[in-house]
Order: sequence, then structure tokens, then C-alpha cells
Amino acid sequence: MTVPSTATATVDSKVVLITGASSGIGEATARRLAAAGHRVLLGARRTDRIAAIAEDIRSTGGSADHHELDVTSLDSVRAFVRAAHELHGRVDVLVNNAGVMPLSTLDALKVDEWNRMIDVNLRGVLHGIAAVLPAMRAQGAGHIVNIASVSGHRVDPTAAVYSATKFAVRALSEGLRQESRDLRVTVISPGLTHSELTEGISDPGAREAARDMMKIAIPAAAIGEAINYAISQPLEVDVNEVVIRPTAQS
Ligand code: NDP
Repeated sequence: MTVPSTATATVDSKVVLITGASSGIGEATARRLAAAGHRVLLGARRTDRIAAIAEDIRSTGGSADHHELDVTSLDSVRAFVRAAHELHGRVDVLVNNAGVMPLSTLDALKVDEWNRMIDVNLRGVLHGIAAVLPAMRAQGAGHIVNIASVSGHRVDPTAAVYSATKFAVRALSEGLRQESRDLRVTVISPGLTHSELTEGISDPGAREAARDMMKIAIPAAAIGEAINYAISQPLEVDVNEVVIRPTAQS
């Protein structure tokens, strides 16, 4: 995607941190927000990927940096946020996007994968909130965007634990929203979206079924567009939840 050469930091340019920005929705969001003139900081474990994406954004006139990030570690998330403060002196938006989806039926007893989903999808979001909340409260403003899922609204076979983490993300987002009069809280719930998410499914049957469903997936850019919409609203307007799925998805 080409970033317009007019994409420069302006007074409306927000400092946006994106977790899981090395592929899929996180990458597309970084590119879209940089094109809108925001200053993005990309985080993920695959630093070669985020370095290349940030370089590509900069080469087309956007503002982008990258920092290694493992959301399962609170120390790592705090270092990620510290990097943004060192670069820009503030954090305006955190997009808690990092996630994994190793689908399987419960009786397969893939307990390690259950724990990984809890660690990344739920604990990772909590770590993000913990890392930015004090500074956002001190600023008296900020925006936390949590990526849930259509699976945070419904449960399907093989997705019990994944859905549990995404229901939980919606619950804690609502709790944070109710406790906040200064912060904006947005939940983005995508349906089937092109990304690398199904590559982490170890169960052959679940992987094949998921890949089959992905035939109707929408581009990750569609989710980046929704996030851009939410953060570009006036400060007193909090877009609480957006559900975006393929027209053909049940
Ligand atoms: P991808 O697999 O393409 O992206 C997942 C991202 O999460 C990668 O950048 C990966 O980076 C990162 N990630 C995984 N584990 C960690 C970790 N421990 N620390 C930091 N980053 C991590 O999939 P999507 O783009 O689809 O996923 C993004 C979000 O969208 C997820 O929360 C997912 O649940 C959600 N979602 C996706 C849907 C879809 O159909 N694609 C539908 C509904 C929701 P790296 O491996 O480099 O660390």
C-alpha cells in the first residue's frame, strides 16, 4: 500500500502503538494510520518484519518506528511503551492487536495452546493496559483500541478457548470504559480477515476447516480503516465497538 507523500506529522498527528504489527491486521493498521499522518510504533517478536514495514512506511513519507515486543511479558510491554515516550514524549493510542488462534476441540487437551491463547490474547491486552494507563491518566486523555473478534460474540466448535479470550477482552474493555471519563475505549471485532492467523493451528482438521472458511475473508486493510475511523473522531466521541465481517459470513 502506498503512503501519500503528504503523510507528515501535524498537530492532529497521534502517537499510536500497535502490538502484533508484523503481519495481517496489525501491519495493515500501521500502514493505514501512518498514511493518515499518525506516528506509529510497531511492536512484535519478528523484529526483521517490523523493521522492514517501518522502513517501507518511512520511504513513502510516513512516520514509523519499531521495537521488539512480547506481549506475554509485562516488562517487554513496558519497554515498548517507554520507547514511544523516548521517541515522541507521549502515547495517544494503543492498539492491542497481538493474538493467536490455535483452534482445536477441548478433548484434544492442547493445554499448552489454551495457555498461550490466554497469555497472548488476554494477558497481553491486560499488560498493554497496565503499561499505558498511568501515563494516559496523567495526560487526561488517551485511546485504547482492543482487537476482539466475532468469536467474542459467538462460540463455535474448536474455538471455545479462543472465544473465551475474546469474550474476556470485550468484558474488560467495557469495564475500562465504565471506569474512564478521560480515556476512549474501542473494541474492534473482525470476522474472517486475510492474515497469517490460521498458520498457528496445529490440529490438521481444524486448520483445514479454518483455511476453507478463509476463502471468503476480507482484506486486513478493512480493519485498519475501521481503526482509523475510531481514532479520528473528536475527543468527546468514543466509538465503543465495531463488528466487521465479510458480507458472506454467517
Ligand atoms: P496474524 O497472525 O497475521 O498476526 C498476529 C500478530 O500477533 C503478529 O504480528 C504476531 O507477531 C503477533 N503476536 C503473536 N504473539 C505475540 C506475542 N507474544 N507478542 C507480541 N506479538 C505477538 O493474525 P491477525 O492479523 O489476523 O491477528 C491480529 C488480531 O486480530 C488477533 O488478535 C486476532 O485474534 C484478531 N482477529 C483476527 C481475525 C482474522 O480472521 N484474521 C478475526 C478476528 C480477530 P510476531 O509473531 O512477530 O510476534
